[in-house]
Amino acid sequence: MKILVINCGSSSLKYQLFDMDSESVMAKGICERIGIAGSALTHKPSGKESCVIEKDMPDHKVAVQMVLDMLVDPVHGVISDIKEISAVGHRVLHAAQKYIDSVVVNEDVKATIRECFEFGPLHNPANLIGIEACEHAMPGVKNVAVFDTAFHQTMPKKAYMYAIPYEYYEKYGIRKYGFHGTSHAFVSKKAIELAGLDSNNSKVIVCHIGNGGSCSAVLNGKCVDTSMGLTPLEGLIMGTRSGDIDPAAVQFIANKEGKDINEMVNILNKKSGILGLSGVSSDFRDVYKAVTEGNEQAQTALDAFSYRVAKYVGSYVAAMNGVDAIVFTAGVGENHAPVRANICQYFGYLGIKLDEQANDNTKGVEGTISTADSKVKVMVIPTNEELKIAQETLALVQ
Ligand code: ADP
Repeated sequence: MKILVINCGSSSLKYQLFDMDSESVMAKGICERIGIAGSALTHKPSGKESCVIEKDMPDHKVAVQMVLDMLVDPVHGVISDIKEISAVGHRVLHAAQKYIDSVVVNEDVKATIRECFEFGPLHNPANLIGIEACEHAMPGVKNVAVFDTAFHQTMPKKAYMYAIPYEYYEKYGIRKYGFHGTSHAFVSKKAIELAGLDSNNSKVIVCHIGNGGSCSAVLNGKCVDTSMGLTPLEGLIMGTRSGDIDPAAVQFIANKEGKDINEMVNILNKKSGILGLSGVSSDFRDVYKAVTEGNEQAQTALDAFSYRVAKYVGSYVAAMNGVDAIVFTAGVGENHAPVRANICQYFGYLGIKLDEQANDNTKGVEGTISTADSKVKVMVIPTNEELKIAQETLALVQ
């Protein structure tokens, strides 16, 4: 069975076509600058040469059609008929409290995605357009919505409530929701398998650290806490996002600089984090290079970043009364050994011992980076959100 996975951002569309018999990728690619001058489709068919098509893509509907045309293209395509695609899995950012699992799209699901526009103003509208474009281009083919928030819906109320007047929760659903759910679900499940744990008696902490970042506490296979909140702004220090901050500091800056609340949140989302703190870049590779060249501000940024991750891990050890495995994933977690070492230096009290050589040698692949006598396993597990979306989609349409 062939399943197409689509991930629509505000001006981009990423796709992967899976052959689910072997769980292999037949083709993948990205449409960039949708709705902006200079849009282009980069298509990477498996076993064939990649190509870039520069063509106007005024909206996601046009982009979806271009992707479908490319998949059946006589030269660059990988299937002969679009009817070979059995279902489409869509990454959808926010479903608030409505869905605790992936779901086949119907009118009610679309209404929920629409209701959550205000929680995910950049992503949810694009996600819905992607779904509707597929409905239009592939009538009769089932679309499945896989929500970033779903895996975290098992959090207990004490973990997701903010200590603000209760009426805001009741009136508007203001609470912690958490994101990167497909990644946390995929990686924690794999960690349980690889570490040989009993899933009904397991304590796993996942550190998903990429450009965006979040930690989660997974007790017996279920999420009990996570660092992102109502939106992906809370928690860890990220590439451009501040993570946790005293709201009164935001008020202070707004008053001093004559900015309104929307401008301030924009600064916290786009100009803060590693970028704001280092003054160098949001990319960890650039910041690390600056550190090796003696840039002290860059060093502070990386130190603060690692410290924040370590504090979240510590709080989740407390939340679960222990931990069996700590897992690093996403761009930084999978590839950047110095940051992992920096974070792990705080875990001596847990009896954790890092195998420095294993850590240095593990880049973009699965591996254990703690020593054999470490009391807790520390692992690297590459995330694969697209495959997880394809698996969830298959399970619902089979
Ligand atoms: P997102 O999906 O949140 O946009 P990614 O998970 O792709 O982000 O992570 C992007 C980050 O990963 C970049 O900031 C980059 O610094 C880091 N990264 C990616 N590859 C490497 C690498 N080979 N070495 C070190 N850091 C890397």
